[in-house]
Amino acid sequence: MKSINSSKPQIQPMTVGPLLSNCYIVWDEDVKQGVIIDPGDDADVILKSVKKLDIKIKYILATHGHFDHVGAVAQLRRELDAEFLAHNGDFFFLEDGENAARRWGIDIERPPKPDRFIEDGEKIKFGEFEFEVLHTPGHSPGGISFLYDHMVFCGDTLFQGGIGRTDFRQGSFEDLSKSIKTRLYTLPDDTIVYTGHGPITTIGNEKKYNAFVRA
Ligand SMILES: [Zn+2]
Ligand SMILES: [Zn+2]
Repeated sequence: MKSINSSKPQIQPMTVGPLLSNCYIVWDEDVKQGVIIDPGDDADVILKSVKKLDIKIKYILATHGHFDHVGAVAQLRRELDAEFLAHNGDFFFLEDGENAARRWGIDIERPPKPDRFIEDGEKIKFGEFEFEVLHTPGHSPGGISFLYDHMVFCGDTLFQGGIGRTDFRQGSFEDLSKSIKTRLYTLPDDTIVYTGHGPITTIGNEKKYNAFVRA
């Protein structure tokens, strides 16, 4: 039997790790297949949710390579037998992830090398749905967003009322501002923005009220 929302991907948000990163399980309920976006920590909690939802995870996706978004990838990839996909612009963050986390006093398992690097314009298929990959650099050079219809998962590119830090290695306010204006603010106003930290928001709201980058 089809559920009422079966025309849309289902989303289960979770806040993980000491830096309160937003991790999202997104799936097609009809065929019970999905992806995990930004599993930054708490692999056991995420695994429990996946099991409870009774779905098969096809891909583990990273919006960017900072350790607070990829800290649980190694364990999840092993236990779920899913492919890990990320942009190669952030490969050096992945390689340095374990050390970077330690500098913050946080323990993570070293993230694995992505099974495949993904680029702007690529399509990521799960069940009957398909994310489009948008390259949105600035917070980090390999930052990407995942777009489906009126929903976009943008990691630390855009927050409710704010934007990602640009003072990390290879961050650039100029690039970030350009990414937000040309790739995100061009989406319909009622597009829901699933952020990397804090509450969700909408494109229309940020275009009007964002403290750093407005339309
Ligand atoms: Zn980040
Ligand atoms: Zn973050």
